[in-house]
Amino acid sequence: MNKKRITTIFIVLLLGFGLYRSHTATVSSVPHTETGYMIGTVVNITVYGDYDDDIFDKSFDIIRDIESKMSLNIDTSELNEINANAGIHPVAVSESTFDVIERSLYHSKVSDGAFDISAGSLVSLWQIGSDKASIPPAEALADAIDTIDYKNIWLNRDSLEVFLKEEGMIIDVGGIAKGYAADRVGEYLSSRGVERAIVDAGGDIYLLGKGSNGGPWKIGVKDPFTSSRNDYLGIVSATQPSIVTSGVYERFLEIEGDDTVYHHILDPKTGYPVQNDIQGVTIVSDSTMDSDGFSTSVFVLGLEEGMKLVESTDNVEAIFVMDSKEVYVSSGLRGLFELTSDEFTMAEL
Ligand code: AMP
Ligand code: MG
Repeated sequence: MNKKRITTIFIVLLLGFGLYRSHTATVSSVPHTETGYMIGTVVNITVYGDYDDDIFDKSFDIIRDIESKMSLNIDTSELNEINANAGIHPVAVSESTFDVIERSLYHSKVSDGAFDISAGSLVSLWQIGSDKASIPPAEALADAIDTIDYKNIWLNRDSLEVFLKEEGMIIDVGGIAKGYAADRVGEYLSSRGVERAIVDAGGDIYLLGKGSNGGPWKIGVKDPFTSSRNDYLGIVSATQPSIVTSGVYERFLEIEGDDTVYHHILDPKTGYPVQNDIQGVTIVSDSTMDSDGFSTSVFVLGLEEGMKLVESTDNVEAIFVMDSKEVYVSSGLRGLFELTSDEFTMAEL
């Protein structure tokens, strides 16, 4: 064997060893879950079957990267840069941020502004979910409402530029970014050979592969009247990969002597948390980002208008849980949703 050949074999062996070390794999017959706290919520990733040990850390890195670009709470985020330059000049952003803003505009349009990505000034005033949450003064709310209009957002896909035309405008993707993050992690796991997984970004769920026995996943819809995360009112057989719930019980502010629940879904027209008779809306669709967008918009639109939007959109389904404990499901979910709690009743529009 000549010297060159020996060196080559040695390098190949070293490379092989290096690969082996960076891709240690776990062979598993039980699902494995890892939890992280990011994008303002608890993220659980569950992988079924064998997996490379680095995939959890890499998945959490994907979400942290999305957070660093799109959070209003991170000074250097791309979203804050866009907002700081409202009325001044366009800002070029990453493709991920552009994709989320572009899809947010779709949701703003189809809901006729019930979902409005430019409701950021309201979101910042209320700060629901943080310990700084309080009821803002009426004048401040009126000023914030004046800055809201998704039609004043200019996008250029070629240059990935975003421009808020009016000074004082603030965009916020809190109503859609968790869903986007879940989709991205799902795609990543799939690219790494994972065949079955659940990505749960604070209740925004992406389902990879089939459920047990190769059939649809069975996903519990939370009972909004209990504080336990594990009490379900019914089960959906999910034949589509995403399921997302928006509910009044997720983040809210309580004021002593006031029965109003000041929750985190805001009405861009009134400036106040939406007051209707919905406790929670669950959306099933092909994309977690879309399910997330629709869960927020449909909540704001209310039962009748929200159901109309769902029924007129292909491959998007909804479950409404009302204050009255009545449950309404869209036509595509009939036969796929089953009540398991006898405190609730099925109803029809
Ligand atoms: P979700 O939990 O998906 O329903 O989203 C609620 C989050 O979306 C809030 O915490 C805000 O960041 C943002 N948000 C609240 N109201 C609206 C609205 N009307 N349109 C767009 N985003 C909203
Ligand atoms: Mg949402």
